[in-house]
Amino acid sequence: GDAGVPGRVRVAVRLRPRNAEELVADADFADCVELQPELKRLKLRKNNWDSETYEFDEVLTEFASQKRVYEVVAKPVVESVLEGYNGTVMAYGQTGTGKTFTLGMLGEEDNAARGIMLYMETVQDLLVPGNDNIAIVEDPKTGDVSLPGTTIVEIRDQRTFVELLRLGEAHRFAANTKLNTESSRSHAILMVHVKRSVKGRHDAEPGLPSENGNASRLVSSLRPPIVRKSKLVVVDLAGSERIDKSGSEGHTLEEAKSINLSLSALGKCINALAENSPHVPFRDSKLTRLLRDSFGGTARTSLVVTIGPSPRHRGETASTIMFGQRAM
Ligand code: ADP
Ligand code: MG
Repeated sequence: GDAGVPGRVRVAVRLRPRNAEELVADADFADCVELQPELKRLKLRKNNWDSETYEFDEVLTEFASQKRVYEVVAKPVVESVLEGYNGTVMAYGQTGTGKTFTLGMLGEEDNAARGIMLYMETVQDLLVPGNDNIAIVEDPKTGDVSLPGTTIVEIRDQRTFVELLRLGEAHRFAANTKLNTESSRSHAILMVHVKRSVKGRHDAEPGLPSENGNASRLVSSLRPPIVRKSKLVVVDLAGSERIDKSGSEGHTLEEAKSINLSLSALGKCINALAENSPHVPFRDSKLTRLLRDSFGGTARTSLVVTIGPSPRHRGETASTIMFGQRAM
């Protein structure tokens, strides 16, 4: 992938530090990965003497600050959204590797995130609890995706934004408790719509004749400003670990199926984009249908794959790395 280039996915890998448990239990074992951030390379250990090397657009070590991560992962997308293009920032990885932490959605509780939640192929509004099973509607002409019935709140200041995030977070926590599930079993999506009026810039619009001279300047000032609309989508994906292994009570099997379905559908879309394929199979899941207008095309997309250092999770770490590699 290339920085800020539309239609390509920019892929960063981020390693989280060992947690207390890993520091103790795995004290005698080396990390399963070794990072070379200057070379943008990651080495995945195969055994004591052999490793496989992978390249990424960015390699973020356990020492990378949140600010640095924002600059590398989100900033190019946020800037292009402010210029009028849609964009997506998403985090993929095993539960506990730092997806939510990386997206800055972490609040008081570990499992906190805000926005819209996709649980078992249903879309739930996190601003109004009980407002669930929302349909995804695509405009056949423009391809724009909308979610009629979901709450859209106009934001004029940062304080309101943070308050809304808190509210969404509280509702997600409550919904997870009610369903007796965990945040790792659903995707959480935050959508920020940006409207910007551009005055006297009609000449810059495609399809309009170019203007110059006094007469046209006068016309220009009489016209209403052009409103540019764009959308930033932040996706905190469900944990990528194979769920079929972990118990089979209640919803677990159905959950596993729907999470596997949406993550594999996402993987297929990302691969199709990376290969410049004319057919991107957005239709295969609700998650990918929802991302249709903010992914590929003129949109900027940034993917951060999060991994842990523990040799015990080498298998999951390897599959996360491969997911990121296929996106490039
Ligand atoms: P996920 O969303 O992938 O399940 P979390 O974001 O909840 O993972 O992170 C799991 C735990 O690890 C949290 O307690 C979080 O604070 C911690 N953590 C994750 N990434 C980092 C990091 N880069 N530096 C320090 N702590 C981290
Ligand atoms: Mg999380």
